[in-house]
Amino acid sequence: MKAFKNILVIGVALLGLTQVLVHGADFPIKDKQVTLIVPFAAGGPTDRVARDLSEAMRKALGVPVVVENDAGGPGGLIGASKLVRSAPDGYTLLVHHIAMGIFPSLVKNLPFKVDTDFEYLGMINDVPMTLIGKPQLPVSTYKELKAWVAQNKGQINLANAGLASASQLCGMLWQATIQVDMATVPYKGTAPAMTDLIGGQVDLMCDQTTSTTSQIEAKKVKAFGVTTLKRLTTPALKDLATLDEQGEKGFNVTIWHGLYGPKGMPADVVQKLNAALKASLKDPEFVKKQEGLGAVVITDKRSDPAEHKRFVLSEVTRWAPVIKGAAVYAD
Ligand code: ASP
Repeated sequence: MKAFKNILVIGVALLGLTQVLVHGADFPIKDKQVTLIVPFAAGGPTDRVARDLSEAMRKALGVPVVVENDAGGPGGLIGASKLVRSAPDGYTLLVHHIAMGIFPSLVKNLPFKVDTDFEYLGMINDVPMTLIGKPQLPVSTYKELKAWVAQNKGQINLANAGLASASQLCGMLWQATIQVDMATVPYKGTAPAMTDLIGGQVDLMCDQTTSTTSQIEAKKVKAFGVTTLKRLTTPALKDLATLDEQGEKGFNVTIWHGLYGPKGMPADVVQKLNAALKASLKDPEFVKKQEGLGAVVITDKRSDPAEHKRFVLSEVTRWAPVIKGAAVYAD
């Protein structure tokens, strides 16, 4: 009886394995949709990248690709954790940013391991940030902003998407650079923060150009500087000076986005998704949309899974001392 049970268990296990293998070979099954989890609110920069990518991936995979916003937690922890818990079948993926490189230093009791709980599917883009302010601010240039900040210490606030977000990281570096501490106002993404900034409920924010470009162009916010060492070539942003050239020597923050699956996906599914990502990165429509928003689509080897992983782990090492110095932790 025991032997029969063992054979049954082995049989069931083999059946499961065969299904995974067949499933991998068949991926993607016609009409079954692929979901891209965005760990921030709709309408923000990560959401923008994912929505543009979903269009290109749909063409490359030949199945619907939809975006699901699972916002909340430090650095989009809720969405990232949901991905880790999902079936490793290629139908649930995550678009995430630099938080993957700062999670281990910024979040205590992280419920997953950045190096072992994800399938790395390739990087998508590098995105500069801009320092922007509410339209009601009594200043318009960076020089005036700094003088105003110095005069109003303790009364100015800085919006962000919560701990371990790109906006928090940039704001943290800016405060350290100008040596002024500001109150921060966390949101579940920078889209709701942008609404409040435009409405004048918060004063300042640092955010990716993928969400700020259109607001700067429409003059709905004031722009004070771009966070890269070189000015951008995007028509809408090319006249915006860098913070570096405005006196903050060496100020340099670029936010990258990548595509992830939960650990354990069949190798051929990883390969197919990476091929679809690479095709998307060359899709002229995707490239045009991204470049129009100041993003630089990845053309180097970081679009390969192994190189993507190597890069993220190098970012974990790069940011650890910076974050430790700032002594900011989330549970
Ligand atoms: N820009 C956000 C951040 O600061 C995330 C988002 O809303 O996409 O991390």
